[in-house]
Amino acid sequence: MNKLKNICVYCGSNVGNHNSFKQKAEVLGKLLAEKKITLVYGGANVGLMKILAETVLNNGGKAIGVITHFLSEKHLVQQGLSELILVNTMQERKAKMAELADGFIVLPGGIGTMEEFFEVLTSAQLGFHEKPIGLLNINGYYDLLLNFFDNMIKEKLFLPVHRSIVISENNPEKIIEIMYSYKAPKAGKWIEKIIAEN
Ligand code: AMP
Repeated sequence: MNKLKNICVYCGSNVGNHNSFKQKAEVLGKLLAEKKITLVYGGANVGLMKILAETVLNNGGKAIGVITHFLSEKHLVQQGLSELILVNTMQERKAKMAELADGFIVLPGGIGTMEEFFEVLTSAQLGFHEKPIGLLNINGYYDLLLNFFDNMIKEKLFLPVHRSIVISENNPEKIIEIMYSYKAPKAGKWIEKIIAEN
């Protein structure tokens, strides 16, 4: 059973087109508060990030925001956070969020969310961390990405063992349940396999 004291959530700085994105961000926020799991996120007061953080805080939960001085000067910081960590660069920000997290959840988002997701997924596939990564596929938003993963596997540019790292689900409660019992693939084995095949 993994300890999930802090979960880092990556999500849109926009709210998106579907009400279900907002609704599921609220469901996730309530669940984190109920389960006493601290939210770690980008610290902003915009989009799904704002909805998520406010739901956590309004339900008695804790939210830690990690944001750059630059963005904070643009008045993009969420008020009332349990803790606010200011850093100098976006790189430091991602590193700090990842360091604080025991696991990651990706809600619908755009390019920033994808960058964060791919960074933690890449480091997981290299065996740098064994933390669970959940992709909340709300309203089929990530279907195209999951199909692309299948294509990468078909073209032998992505290993099934690494595809298995991504927990994709459309239910926030279920994704957290799976994250508790997630066991990372052992890096040594597939590295030996790649070397043998090359
Ligand atoms: P996007 O998916 O492009 O809307 O970007 C959202 C992701 O990038 C979030 O998970 C944040 O960590 C980060 N991000 C984007 N905009 C901001 C912002 N104004 N303040 C803090 N983080 C942001």
